Amino acid sequence: MGEKLKWLYKDKVWLEQKYIVEKLSQKEIAKICNVSYGCIQKNLTKHGLNPGVKGSRYQREETKEKIRLLNTGKKHSKEINLTKGRKGHIVTEEMRRKISESRLGEKHPLWKGGVTSLRRLLVGSAKYKAFRSKMFKRDNYMCQNCGHIGGYIHLHHIIPQSKNKDLIMNENNVKALCLDCHAEEHPNINVVHAWVR
Ligand SMILES: [Zn+2]
Ligand SMILES: [Zn+2]
Repeated sequence: MGEKLKWLYKDKVWLEQKYIVEKLSQKEIAKICNVSYGCIQKNLTKHGLNPGVKGSRYQREETKEKIRLLNTGKKHSKEINLTKGRKGHIVTEEMRRKISESRLGEKHPLWKGGVTSLRRLLVGSAKYKAFRSKMFKRDNYMCQNCGHIGGYIHLHHIIPQSKNKDLIMNENNVKALCLDCHAEEHPNINVVHAWVR
């Protein structure tokens, strides 16, 4: 597996998914790709994803994502105004909070998945994150429908959480899917914006 995944650290979107979205450490990513920690650090910097590096594009990328997420919902003029000229650490922290709130789903205007508060709590939990990482690893970070590797991956529940919450962390009920294939599984949900994992 190590050989096959070795090049993934060069893929910006994949790195972003692992480092920014899944919040894996540089060390953990290095382990997945079977390369040195410095190699990951270098590529994070190269793609502007390393927030510790001056002039990093990471904060700007995050601003873009915030705007994108906000634009998918109701346009609260106050929030849009707040995004203007936001740079630096305090702002980044607040944006991170707002982004994770958007990801909670239930409050999101596009959310149609019938999220229970149980699921909401669970998806944010360390236990679920560990489960998700384990399942991505089991599936070799490859879309189980079309075989695509790289870019964003979601963890799809074959029997949805809304139908059976006991199967949320059942290994036989989940598979890694690329965004395109995941969207096909949920024709009525905007999977990208609803952050169904
Ligand atoms: Zn696919
Ligand atoms: Zn799904």
